[in-house]
Amino acid sequence: MANADVVALLENIALALELKQESPFRIRAYREAARNVAFLIPDIRQLFAEGKLEEIPGVGSSIAEKIADYLTTGKSAYLEAMGPEAPAGVLELTRIPGVGPRRARTIYDALNIQTAAALAEACRQGQIRALKGLGAATEARILQEIERLPERSRRIPLGVALPLAERIVASLRVWPGIDRAEPAGSVRRCMEMVGDIDVLVAAKDASVVRDAVTRGLPFAPELIASGPTKMTFLAPGAWQVDVRVVPERSWGAALQYFTGSMAHNIVLRERAMARRLKLNEYGLFDLDTGASVAGRTEAEIYERLDLDWIPPELREAAGEIEAAEAGRLPRLVESSDVRGDFHSHTMYSDGEAGIEAMARAALALGYEFLAITDHSPGLGITHGLDLAKLVRQRQEIVALRPKLAPFRILHGIELEIRASGELDFPDDILAGFDLVTASLHLATRQGTERITARLLAALAHPLVGILNHPSGRLLDTRPAYDFDLDQVIDAARAHGKALEINGSYLRLDLPDSAARRARDRGVVFSLGSDAHSIAGLGAMRLAVAVARRSLIGPDQVLNTWSADRRAASAAIRQPPVPGVSGGR
Ligand SMILES: [Zn+2]
Ligand SMILES: [Zn+2]
Repeated sequence: MANADVVALLENIALALELKQESPFRIRAYREAARNVAFLIPDIRQLFAEGKLEEIPGVGSSIAEKIADYLTTGKSAYLEAMGPEAPAGVLELTRIPGVGPRRARTIYDALNIQTAAALAEACRQGQIRALKGLGAATEARILQEIERLPERSRRIPLGVALPLAERIVASLRVWPGIDRAEPAGSVRRCMEMVGDIDVLVAAKDASVVRDAVTRGLPFAPELIASGPTKMTFLAPGAWQVDVRVVPERSWGAALQYFTGSMAHNIVLRERAMARRLKLNEYGLFDLDTGASVAGRTEAEIYERLDLDWIPPELREAAGEIEAAEAGRLPRLVESSDVRGDFHSHTMYSDGEAGIEAMARAALALGYEFLAITDHSPGLGITHGLDLAKLVRQRQEIVALRPKLAPFRILHGIELEIRASGELDFPDDILAGFDLVTASLHLATRQGTERITARLLAALAHPLVGILNHPSGRLLDTRPAYDFDLDQVIDAARAHGKALEINGSYLRLDLPDSAARRARDRGVVFSLGSDAHSIAGLGAMRLAVAVARRSLIGPDQVLNTWSADRRAASAAIRQPPVPGVSGGR
């Protein structure tokens, strides 16, 4: 399957570049391209034959060249040229969280270790702590991560699972003989990590579905199990996909049942019993006569159980059933409520597209505005905005505005909160931005007190409107830094500032549990894709999913507000700084 091979090629190039400590721009470009190829519907060989490789998001002429070489010759001259620099063993080690390219290189060079198992053994023998720049604490952490690997590898981040599930169902729906197809299970509930991908299909005949799976999908998966009602295959990335086939008359019951959660379903079943009804994946039945009373749609099942229909994201037996019974389910924010994006990057820092391309893509999404928030210089690796770049960026945005009006480009900044707690730009510079968002990327191990103080100082600063990815966690790879969430929530609320829900598939930060706590205390949220490319703008979808799981309605989300209301909020409005002519 060519698409999966190309994904592997691009990922290997990215790792090889990383080991050579090449520019983070180029590394990120290969990763982004790999991700987009993984989600590609057509066969990449087809696009190559038609000369359309560069139409793949994130694939420019240079990456297209590498793909073309690989598709033509079956190997990559570019990757091979880096060969001795990137032994397979080192690549293997970099996949262990907490190791990373530099450490992998050190470990490989010193001990010739090439596998996770050998590294674990070396950790146990205390060999790793002796290496330069590692130490006992790192050794312990690496060992812990290796021991967690088997569990981790079974779980898929939502940002991978959801687009993949949607692409699979889109392909199945158009196959003749298939009436419906939907994602089910934890993907449909938008859990941040999912075990495997569940897909539900309504069709008269399972053999039709088997054909659709083996011949209708963009990749040709090998079935690892196939029965009359269920088949299992591996998608690119070796993610497991379970496809269940149900008749149309059971569609709603099956969708409800296979969406879960288990806890939610148990409560529903008991509720059915109390009404002398039986609920299962085939339908809702009268316990006495066995007659079917509902099952075609989910809505009629909930209705028959005297409940409002419950959005899948809430089905956790965490109060949603009581709320549905009382008719008090909150209206949750939807993608269609979102008028714009408060977090995006361009080539001015570590993004891959220009301002105009990003703005036009946002416009095509139906947005009214896009905030360009490139990094300030403090985050060295991203080549942030120095003053000269900042001026050029401002000029470019001002010049673009009349061309795109009434669409609005906000000139924002992702401002580094320095280790000292100071902000990365002085007030007179900050006053010139339409929007100042603050982030803590550096010195993240200072301990609760100092980290919290830095976050609070940023929220209290009159020119800062939004605190980005407030917990700093990376999904499934790096825990949140130590900080006092409640103090941050209270400060955001007191100053009228927004806490971000960052939709980057690597982050999802604030996570749903923390966002729900902030929601209950009346904080306003900003949703940001943190896009580093045009395709990256799609991560807004994930930010919306997290907000929905956190019970957040449109009124608490800055992105849904009208321009006037936004302009009146402390998160956007820029109070004048005395004695400074900032210029808006
Ligand atoms: Zn950031
Ligand atoms: Zn960012």
